[in-house]
Amino acid sequence: MSAKKEGNIRISSENMMPIIKKWLYSDKDIFLREIVSNATDAITKYRKLVELGSASAPSAEEKYCVKISVDKDAKTLTVEDNGIGMSEEEVEKYITQIAFSGAADFLSKYEKAGGDGIIGHFGLGFYSAYMVSENIEIFTKSYQDTPAVHWESDGNSTYSIEECDKADRGTKVVMHLAAGEEEFLEESTIRGLVRKYCEFMPYEIYVNYKGKDDKPVNNISPLYLKNPADCTEEEYKTFYRETFSDYTDPLFWVHLNMEYPYRLKGILYFPKVRNKVELERGKVKLFCNQVFIAENIKEVIPEYLMLLNGVIDCPDIPLNVSRSFLQNDRQVQKISKYVAKKVADALIDLFNKDREKYEKCWEDTSMFVKFGCLKDEDFYQKIKDVIIYKNLAGKYVPLTSLFGAELTDEEAKEGKQPKAVYYVSDENLQAQYVQMFKDAGLDAVHCDNYLDPHFISFMEYKEPRKVRFLRIDADVDEALKNAADENAESKNGEIEKAFTAALKEKNVTVKVSSLKNADIPAVINVDEFMRRMGEMNRFYGMGEMPPQLTLIVNAANESVRTLASLPEERQKFVAEQIYYLALLSYRKLTPDEMKAFTANNMQLLQEYAAQKA
Ligand code: ADP
Repeated sequence: MSAKKEGNIRISSENMMPIIKKWLYSDKDIFLREIVSNATDAITKYRKLVELGSASAPSAEEKYCVKISVDKDAKTLTVEDNGIGMSEEEVEKYITQIAFSGAADFLSKYEKAGGDGIIGHFGLGFYSAYMVSENIEIFTKSYQDTPAVHWESDGNSTYSIEECDKADRGTKVVMHLAAGEEEFLEESTIRGLVRKYCEFMPYEIYVNYKGKDDKPVNNISPLYLKNPADCTEEEYKTFYRETFSDYTDPLFWVHLNMEYPYRLKGILYFPKVRNKVELERGKVKLFCNQVFIAENIKEVIPEYLMLLNGVIDCPDIPLNVSRSFLQNDRQVQKISKYVAKKVADALIDLFNKDREKYEKCWEDTSMFVKFGCLKDEDFYQKIKDVIIYKNLAGKYVPLTSLFGAELTDEEAKEGKQPKAVYYVSDENLQAQYVQMFKDAGLDAVHCDNYLDPHFISFMEYKEPRKVRFLRIDADVDEALKNAADENAESKNGEIEKAFTAALKEKNVTVKVSSLKNADIPAVINVDEFMRRMGEMNRFYGMGEMPPQLTLIVNAANESVRTLASLPEERQKFVAEQIYYLALLSYRKLTPDEMKAFTANNMQLLQEYAAQKA
């Protein structure tokens, strides 16, 4: 090559830039990833040739690396590599023709996809740098003994190419930034972008290289690439800290390593979370051959696993296609299933091998697990036996261990109910019921996580013949009845009459039963089904539906037994007092109830004091 050559770019690209700019504006900074990954690819190609003996080895002191520099005065951003380089023919072919037609190709594909967001906008490559540059120069020298080349174009229809005196092998891309793109002249911005997009690229990347002691911005051998058997706990934790800038240690992790049908490597971490806000912070970063693609791609991993923190690298995944395609891709669905299965395996493994640790983590992990079960039938089937709940003694028990034997068809036809599992949703409010259960030697589980109401309904739906859930204050009668004391039928009728009359102004149904604990005069009972209906109404904003309360009056209690023989006036007083006390351990009193209850108590106090006098 001798004289400078100028030429026309064969495709018509005058109108391309405005369109590309418009579509890609939101994450135009991916251009840096494209240019840097071209640079690392070029190094890989050269390294391979050296390994094959087709290229002479670099000198001993030469280190494969990519250097990025910014020059505020010249308004340039430069990316330089010591890779394979290009000859004049190659620049013509790969840059003038392929890179540009690649962009045109991209555009037509993008249009076909309806612009529904192409993952990472792969395939745009070199051309994407025109999103921020008004002019780009390439200086390149091939590993072969050909003259160095200088190429230049403003990205529209013309370019020039000429010989230049670049001495070292490799390629230097000089981007003359367009007006308004000055942010890319800030070293801190560039460092941030390299950290985001080039975090695990396989060769060291320097920004404004300062000499031998300078540290690369990226990590060229991320832990997930290492054989799981060779990774230490400390390495996992350090990798987590560095990758997610989270200074609390993760609870545990799953190292993924799949060969078929796709290659996939990665680590998923269970972070410590205590509340919903933190839960939404999770992020799973997707890479393709150590090049960052995107975060939280719900097409590739199940949505509920995005609550975790993690990195996943799929070298074979077809990333240059639209998301709607990915969604329907069977192979991609397999990845999603694989990842879910691995996570389930890891949890089951921990449950079996280190129950103590499993229980310690449970408060955090339960969120993922329950959410996962609600979202994914297979995950639920796999994991259901390691879902644990705290019982009244504060000990964790697998929930399925509390289920009853499955009802037979016959039993189901007869309308027989499956076994009831009682649960506490608010320990303070339901303290009285808890005590009654404990006294009666009965058990219940604590369901106080915000997902639990959904989860309970879900379990009933999944296992309709094995379990039904009752809140500890529902059907107390059934649970706490003293079956031995059933001979007082007539007496009970009398009590019921007296209470019903005394409480006729209150919105409550009276039922008499003999409870195991004689100390408690009465408890409030709410039908489980009706209460849930009410909760659902509230949840969907369909207004309040005050639950129908039942007062279970305890025929075994002394004050209750004597009530009927009191004068009418006193009957009302005692019945109301018993009602308010029961109500108090069920819910907060309304202002009117509180007033009446307080007045009753004042009167009691006065009478008591007068007696003593
Ligand atoms: P892609 O990387 O997707 O193939 P690009 O438009 O980014 O598309 O690049 C087109 C081609 O130009 C590359 O395939 C490569 O052959 C060549 N190329 C780009 N950058 C470099 C570089 N830094 N060193 C050597 N070759 C390069």
